[in-house]
Amino acid sequence: MLSFDTDIRYLKGVGEKRAQLLKRLGVDTVGALLSFYPRSYKDLSKTELIYDTELDKTVCIKAKITSDISEHYIRKNMTLYKFKVADQSGAMNVTIFNNKYLAEKLNVGSTYLFYGKTTGGIFLREMSSPEIYEQNNNGILPVYSLTSGITSKYLSGIIRTALDSFTPDDPLPQSVREKYNLCDIKYALNNIHFPRTKESLDRARRRLIFEELFLLQCGMSYFALKRRGKTASVIENNYTNEFLSLLPFTPTDSQIKCIGEGLRDMQSSVPMNRLLQGDVGSGKTVVAAALCYSAAKNGFQSILMAPTVILAEQHFRTFENFFNDSDIKCALITGSLTAANKRKLREQIKNGEIDIVVGTNAILSDANEFCNVGLVITDEQHRFGVEQRAKLSSKGHSPHTLVMSATPIPRTLALVIYGDLDISILNEYPKGRQKIECYSVTKKLEERAYNYIKKHIDEGRQAYIVCPLVEEGETERTPAETHYKNLSEGAFKNYKLGLLHGKLSSAAKEKVMRQFSSGEIDLLISTTVIEVGIDVPNAAIMVILDADCFGLSQLHQLRGRIGRGNHKSTCILISGTADKATNERLSVICATNDGFKIAEEDLKLRGPGDFLGKRQHGLPELKIADMNSDYSVLKITQEAAKEVLSRDSDLSQSDNATLKKEILRLFNIN
Ligand code: ADP
Ligand code: MG
Repeated sequence: MLSFDTDIRYLKGVGEKRAQLLKRLGVDTVGALLSFYPRSYKDLSKTELIYDTELDKTVCIKAKITSDISEHYIRKNMTLYKFKVADQSGAMNVTIFNNKYLAEKLNVGSTYLFYGKTTGGIFLREMSSPEIYEQNNNGILPVYSLTSGITSKYLSGIIRTALDSFTPDDPLPQSVREKYNLCDIKYALNNIHFPRTKESLDRARRRLIFEELFLLQCGMSYFALKRRGKTASVIENNYTNEFLSLLPFTPTDSQIKCIGEGLRDMQSSVPMNRLLQGDVGSGKTVVAAALCYSAAKNGFQSILMAPTVILAEQHFRTFENFFNDSDIKCALITGSLTAANKRKLREQIKNGEIDIVVGTNAILSDANEFCNVGLVITDEQHRFGVEQRAKLSSKGHSPHTLVMSATPIPRTLALVIYGDLDISILNEYPKGRQKIECYSVTKKLEERAYNYIKKHIDEGRQAYIVCPLVEEGETERTPAETHYKNLSEGAFKNYKLGLLHGKLSSAAKEKVMRQFSSGEIDLLISTTVIEVGIDVPNAAIMVILDADCFGLSQLHQLRGRIGRGNHKSTCILISGTADKATNERLSVICATNDGFKIAEEDLKLRGPGDFLGKRQHGLPELKIADMNSDYSVLKITQEAAKEVLSRDSDLSQSDNATLKKEILRLFNIN
């Protein structure tokens, strides 16, 4: 008996050798085979007339062979077969290569379907090596992504075998199918692999896209609800006022409001699951520190995780400054610790001497044991994956979680990424914050931009020059190293320059950062390593090279690294392209300083894919849906998922059994 999980090699017609090949395509079980959807289709159901076709576009032509088939021996291993075909619009030359078998099968005077690209001109059309089908074949044929040794025909064959011998259980509960008018799994699989008509294919696609997004959303919400259900470390007493008195500045009203929202969550027995959104420079770290402070005073440890070592180090320093005059103890865990130090810190964390542990997500994979984790905070969480978050929850006793992000995410997307969460928004800048002037200019003005930097360095300021990461083999853009070399020998010969990029060791990075913070370096040439990290109030100028390579939100984050002190700050975007769309995009960023507006614009211009890339979120890979084109379906599936979970939050009812199984499979949870 076949099942979804049956190893592919036990399917009739597969065997060991083919199974190995199929595995390369990610097909290891019968279930994976069934959800190995075609990449595209050959539509033989719609034919075009020879002289109505657009040139160089793949089309299907129904025509009669009107000449003999001539054989031309060109050289060894190269024989051509040529003949004429015609329909009511005119005639066309057809050439096939090296296919004696096919040539001999064709009958002069008979009509066939010729599937391929037409070339030539208005006087004579040609088609080179078309696929040729019997004229009564009016099907829609699937085209699969292939690997050598596996043909589409072979795949179709074994999929047919699999579909004929069993039907997988339907992960979409009947109630959902009825409400949203979706076909069942059997119809969907049959028609995605063997479409009967264009309509039945559309129906199948619609259902499978719905299913995929629904499972994703349902899964995220299901896990979020599960996390929510458990009782957590209750932070009984609120020590916010005590914490605020430690600060060297007055908190903004917005900070006080967000701290209050977090504390209210933590005082309840339902674990906090909150997103703190705030533009760069709005002061999220203060909110994080306040919550850690109350947690510590109530006897709970906190973990603070950042996406990069540099940022972790900065958070650590910030925290140490805040907690200087208190009895709170922080520790920084990074890869550069010596083994002895690491061991010592681990010991202290384990026995509760340390209140707050700061580091990158390596804290989790590490063998760190905590004494009593009550709160986990991640900065720029959208770089952490689902698995890591699951691991996180299992470290403590279902701790409170706060995720901080400077990228404002529309709620629809936040629900996909985080499942279910509350949102706090920091919508106010600390007093005295300078507005950043921003200009977008062409490469011609590069020299002037450099002079502008020099003028400000001469006045005592510091500056950044940011360039995009250059992928290996890319020739158009200049890597940071080269810029550094050119600038330090040329325009900035008399200044102190630093270079920062991802390939430096963390010790080297830290050294450069320290030199920049302390003012030893005037001008820092950097890749986006500084994107979310650095806080140097004296740095007031930023020039971004090849600005067209960046997303708007990313540019906004980058420029948020200046304007942090009380100096007038300027950001200059330089781009080499005169492309209109690019310039419009860049003008958006110059026109507003509002990160939410910019994110919306990004969403409009580039679609949600940017927010949702797999790399960033560790979400399961999509097989058929596309976050950009199926965004509207995503909204509908969110509603559907909410309905299902509101009736059966544990997915324990029998009609949700398959759904639950599929979700656990999708998220790799056994
Ligand atoms: P972000 O939200 O971008 O993470 P940070 O927490 O790094 O912002 O804060 C940016 C800078 O503003 C830091 O130097 C921080 O010390 C300072 N800051 C935060 N809150 C205030 C405030 N209320 N008044 C003055 N400066 C503040
Ligand atoms: Mg920050």
